[in-house]
Amino acid sequence: MRLFVALFPPPPALAELGAEVRRLRALPDAGRRLRWSDPATWHFTLAFLGEVDEAVLPDLTERLARAARRHPAHELRLAGGGRFGDRVLWAGAEGDVPVLRALARSAGAAARRAGAPVDESRAFHAHLTLARAAGRVALRPYAEALAAFRGSPWAAERLELVRSRLPGSGVPGERPRYETVRAWDLGG
Ligand code: ATP
Ligand code: MG
Repeated sequence: MRLFVALFPPPPALAELGAEVRRLRALPDAGRRLRWSDPATWHFTLAFLGEVDEAVLPDLTERLARAARRHPAHELRLAGGGRFGDRVLWAGAEGDVPVLRALARSAGAAARRAGAPVDESRAFHAHLTLARAAGRVALRPYAEALAAFRGSPWAAERLELVRSRLPGSGVPGERPRYETVRAWDLGG
């Protein structure tokens, strides 16, 4: 199964960002050239595990539980944004991001030790994917429009192991479905 470890902001924080994104979506070309992600699925990926054998799950969940216990609940806010080239538009985070980064590192290590093919080649970059470009789209105006955004603070207090089911319908533009397999409170 395809798995990743994530942190989901609470609904009020998502609603604030949602209002901001509605403004972005009113920019020219926003609807035609960008695939916007569903606000209900917005998350910070802490570790992407890829295809994981079911037999790995017991060890993996035990290690992730320990990783969650080792890091405290912390305060974040959704703020600013940017782009990865002209492919991905994202919103950023401010606040206790070093705690989030340490948690991401632990989650990646836990997955690797459990034998999941975790991709640790890229340094952790706290971001929440808002849209993906279908073809070449100049994302800079969107990133600039996001720069001034600063949401209210909230408590990051739960680590989640999530299953991603890729669409099998063949309907163009259909998004993967996310399903939480297990969740743990930070700090135990
Ligand atoms: P799609 O790939 O159709 O755009 P998605 O990215 O939302 O959908 P997945 O590909 O299952 O769904 O990815 C789940 C999460 O893991 C997303 O946050 C995605 O950005 C992240 N992710 C996917 N592949 C990698 C990777 N190779 N390295 C790091 N993070 C990844
Ligand atoms: Mg993907």
